[in-house]
Amino acid sequence: MTAYPIGVEVSCDGPAEQTACPDSAAVSTRFASRTARQVRADGRSDGWARRRRAGRLVDLCPHCATTP
Ligand SMILES: [Zn+2]
Repeated sequence: MTAYPIGVEVSCDGPAEQTACPDSAAVSTRFASRTARQVRADGRSDGWARRRRAGRLVDLCPHCATTP
């Protein structure tokens, strides 16, 4: 019997507060990544960024992270 762990996806919060991300990308869970913290660490190596916006933390995909 094979058990598949329930993964975590970190989705992009978009280039701006009212703007949805053009490609609803998400960091997919990788083999060794089970927690949001681990998935975000994976994302950082792909160019994902974690920023503070309006007092809360948002996740930005590589595309949005380079959009001013
Ligand atoms: Zn994005």
